[in-house]
Amino acid sequence: MSKINLLNYTLMELEDVLTELGEKKFRALQIFEWLHQKQVTSFDEMSNLSKPLREKLKSQTQIPQIEVVRTQTDHQDGTQKMLYRFGDGEYAETVKMVYEHGSSVCISSQIGCRMGCTFCASTLGGLNRNLSAAEMLMQIYEIERNSGPVHSVVIMGMGEPFDNYSEFLRFVELINHPHGRNLGSRHITVSTCGLADKIKEFADLKTQINLAVSLHQARQEKRAEIMPIARKYDLETLKSACQYYISKTNRRITFEYGLIENKTDQMVDADALIGFCKGLLCHINLIPINPVADRNQKAPDKKRQYAFKNYLEKAGIPVSLRRTLGKNIDAACGQLRKKEEEICKQ
Ligand code: SF4
Repeated sequence: MSKINLLNYTLMELEDVLTELGEKKFRALQIFEWLHQKQVTSFDEMSNLSKPLREKLKSQTQIPQIEVVRTQTDHQDGTQKMLYRFGDGEYAETVKMVYEHGSSVCISSQIGCRMGCTFCASTLGGLNRNLSAAEMLMQIYEIERNSGPVHSVVIMGMGEPFDNYSEFLRFVELINHPHGRNLGSRHITVSTCGLADKIKEFADLKTQINLAVSLHQARQEKRAEIMPIARKYDLETLKSACQYYISKTNRRITFEYGLIENKTDQMVDADALIGFCKGLLCHINLIPINPVADRNQKAPDKKRQYAFKNYLEKAGIPVSLRRTLGKNIDAACGQLRKKEEEICKQ
C-alpha cells in the first residue's frame, strides 16, 4: 500500500488523516506548519511531536522528496535553471530569476504539454502527466531551503496550468495558506495559452492572483499556425473570456507576446495586436524568444524589437520589452529536460 503524501493535503484533509490515525486533530496544524512554513524534509525534525507519533507517521505517510539533477547558472544575470527529478523518474524544470525586488521562481505544472505551441520545446514529446500540487510546491521549497524565501511565483514553466486545473487550485490553496507558506495571491501569476472556458471559471473565483495570457499573435489564422489552441478558442472567444475576467475581478491582464522574426514581428501584427487590446484593461509584455533547438525560429534584432514596442506605445497600449533572462543557459522551457532525456537514451 502506498504511503499518504502529506505535502499534497490541505489542512482540513490533514485533520482527517490524523483522526484516521487515531490522533488529535490539532496535530494536523503542527504538521502543516512543519511542512509548509519550516519546509522540513524528515519527520525527525518535527520536534514538537512525540517519538511514537513520528514513527507512526514514518510508517504510514511520507514527505515526498525531489532530486536536483542539474543546475545551470547564467553568471551574467544570476538566472538559474534547475532540472528536478521526481520519485517516478520524471523530470521537470524550474527557473529562478533574480530581480532588484527579490527573486521570482517560474515553476512547471505538467511533465510535457499537449498544447503544441510551435515555439516551445516542452511540447515536443506531448504530455506525459500532470504534476501534483505537492510537486509544484517542491520546486519552490527546494529553492527556498537553499537560498531563502522567494518574492514571487509564476506558473509559466513546462505545461499548461489550466489543463491541470484542480491541482493548480490545490497548489494555490496550499502556498497561500496563512499557516503554511503564506505567499500572497498578488505574488502569484498564472499563465495560460488561452483556455477561454477556464479563464471564465477562474474569473468566477475572484482571486487576487495575476493572470497572464500567452497571446503571441493577434491575427487568427497566424495565431492558429503557431498555437493550435487558437483553433479551439479563436481570438474572439478569447477576448470575450478576457473581458469577462476583467469585469469580474477588475484586474489587469498581461498579454505575453513573443517576438519571433517574420512570424509575429511585422507591423501588420502590431496593428492586429492594437485592435485586440482595444477596450481591455491590459499590459503587453514583449518577449524576444529564446531560440529552440529543433525549431527554426529566432528573435528579431534589437532595432525591430524597439520599433514594434514604440508602435504600440504610440497607439496608447501599455507595453514593456522584457530583457531576455538566462540567455546563456537553456532557458526556454523544456530544453533542459529534453537534453537530459536524450542523454539518458544514449
Ligand atoms: S508555451 Fe506553454 S502551453 Fe504552449 S506548448 Fe509550451 S508549455 Fe505548453
